[in-house]
Amino acid sequence: MVERVLREREEREEFGREIERKEHEIRAERAQKKREREARELEEARGWPQQQEPVTGQSLWLCEHYQRHCRVRFPCCTNFYSCHRCHNNSKECDNEEAKASHATHLKCSYCHHEQEIGEDSAKCRSCGAKVSAYFCGICKHFTSIDKNPYHCEKCGICRIHKDKSFHCDVCNVCLDKRLQGKHKCRPDSGHDECCICLEDAFSGCQILPCSHKVHRECAIAMIQNGIRTCPVCRHPLYSPAPE
Ligand SMILES: [Zn+2]
Ligand SMILES: [Zn+2]
Ligand SMILES: [Zn+2]
Ligand SMILES: [Zn+2]
Ligand SMILES: [Zn+2]
Ligand SMILES: [Zn+2]
Ligand SMILES: [Zn+2]
Ligand SMILES: [Zn+2]
Repeated sequence: MVERVLREREEREEFGREIERKEHEIRAERAQKKREREARELEEARGWPQQQEPVTGQSLWLCEHYQRHCRVRFPCCTNFYSCHRCHNNSKECDNEEAKASHATHLKCSYCHHEQEIGEDSAKCRSCGAKVSAYFCGICKHFTSIDKNPYHCEKCGICRIHKDKSFHCDVCNVCLDKRLQGKHKCRPDSGHDECCICLEDAFSGCQILPCSHKVHRECAIAMIQNGIRTCPVCRHPLYSPAPE
């Protein structure tokens, strides 16, 4: 009698464990499927053409932002910084909105000579060293030519990937060459906002299949939150999942 009760209890427990194992398996399988779906969508999103990015860079230079051999100074303070982004991140100055074009002076990293930034600032006026491979006197961008930067007169800013870009006069923005003659032209659509964060997308974003815009980081957030249609027009973002 006692034996039967014990055996039954054991069977019940075994059954419980069995269910737990199954649930665990199902959860793991679901997580795996979710990971696979995210990876596939990220991959597809990577292929969305770009509204070209402004000049930025990464490497082991004065800072992670630009490849240059000079520091720059802004009207708001007297310190020299490796770039406007480093200036904006620093605690020593309250101004967090300096733009590259606001810089007034540069300090050569080779000879430490300080000089006003002018059209000729690609080279140090004192030692003659080239302070950066690319220099734009309008935007006051000092950086490398790795990403093929160029100043677009019509956009009024420096962008990257000159070889892969064209300026669309209707949208009034530089776009990925793959879109030439194959995009929904809307007057001045280059100045659309990102449909996720509603902030300016003029300087760098990706164009959804429906022609709406998202920043790269906003696209990643969107994928991780399982959003599969355009937040503005509900157009599906991805091709159907392979079965
Ligand atoms: Zn400052
Ligand atoms: Zn920097
Ligand atoms: Zn110098
Ligand atoms: Zn420029
Ligand atoms: Zn342009
Ligand atoms: Zn266009
Ligand atoms: Zn955004
Ligand atoms: Zn859309």
